[in-house]
Amino acid sequence: MSDTGWTIRAARILGGEVGDLHVSDGVFVDEAPAGARIVEADGLIALPGLVDLHTHLREPGREDAETVLTGTRAAAAGGYTAVHAMANTDPVADTAGVVEQVWRLGREAGYCDVQPVGAVTVGIAGERLAELGAMADSAARVRVFSDDGHCVSDAALMRRALEYVKAFGGVVAQHAQEPRLTEGAQMNEGEVSGVLGLRGWPAVAEEAIIARDVLLAAHTGSRLHVCHLSTAGSVELVRWAKSKGYPVTAEVTPHHLLLTDELVRGYDPVYKVNPPLRTQADVEAVRAGLADGTIDVVATDHAPHPVEAKDCEWAVAAMGMLGLETALSVVQHTMVDTGLLDWSGVAGRMSVRAAEIGSLEGHGRPLEPGEPANLTLVDPAASRTIEPGALHSRSHNTPYAGLKLPGTVHATFLRGTATVLDGKVIDR
Ligand SMILES: [Zn+2]
Repeated sequence: MSDTGWTIRAARILGGEVGDLHVSDGVFVDEAPAGARIVEADGLIALPGLVDLHTHLREPGREDAETVLTGTRAAAAGGYTAVHAMANTDPVADTAGVVEQVWRLGREAGYCDVQPVGAVTVGIAGERLAELGAMADSAARVRVFSDDGHCVSDAALMRRALEYVKAFGGVVAQHAQEPRLTEGAQMNEGEVSGVLGLRGWPAVAEEAIIARDVLLAAHTGSRLHVCHLSTAGSVELVRWAKSKGYPVTAEVTPHHLLLTDELVRGYDPVYKVNPPLRTQADVEAVRAGLADGTIDVVATDHAPHPVEAKDCEWAVAAMGMLGLETALSVVQHTMVDTGLLDWSGVAGRMSVRAAEIGSLEGHGRPLEPGEPANLTLVDPAASRTIEPGALHSRSHNTPYAGLKLPGTVHATFLRGTATVLDGKVIDR
């Protein structure tokens, strides 16, 4: 299935030593195969193909916002070889039938492995558990379960979900938002919300759920993953839970590493997101947490919305922003160029750990002979100004429009097949 063999010449492997990589029949091999095509990679950094734990592909149901095809083209352009597709589609991915449909659409598109996330509760209604075992046993082999978009706020239901997924090594990925504390919330609760008169989404609404859930994870001995952690207090809670040895992992989004609630002052709904953009102190805390490993991974929470859902009044606008095509640049800008993380650390947080948390085989692996050739080549010296219309996503709601960001994806390979070459997505 893969292209003819490849030799990637003189790449900096994980940002370290310069070496050649050879690919044949979808795997890395010791020597250049006969007829190998050459990629000159002088100055480029070779990373394992990126893995996103948190992507909204919108299909089925909201194909006007994104499809598996457009979303995975965007993912490939951003350097990803695997994405976890969130369950809040229409119909909800709460049965073996729906998760298998999404998984097959990903295979057919061929740009990126699409690993469906299963809903925790039927219809993401938070009332009774979905068919977790049937989704786990399906062809899609679901291991990550989430009601993302909604919080599993019922503690007894959360406990039972954790107990259930433990049997097959699954993980519950929680969107931590105490519902009563965030009714009608429009932005981060703080100085700016006070000035603007917008209903606030307080940090305690996230932190209270995380505190409860890390204790439930400890009590059940089952794995909890905290989605899009966004506050300094949340970092402290996860740090404490890890110090106790609790089975807890966490993610942060690129936008929470860079943007703050000051941006809301202009009332541009492109900055409306859930959880909301926080303060500069929170940004510093999540960067520090990502650097020291308290936060395991960067996950995009790529949330495409059609223009009518964003080009409207703040109060009625949809929450969410694009992320797949800009994540690596934002991480380079906020973490690498600031000296907080080296490229090996980026590989860990954008590929290796994400694949481990998702129990995704064949991704996040060393760039060594015998391993699947899932690979991203990054040009850290290049930069680009983000143009919404130039993105591959069907939607254009990027918060980085007009911003110059460092780092470009030069090439992406999925099991030895080029999905991006010379910075361009290959048409299949
Ligand atoms: Zn969420």
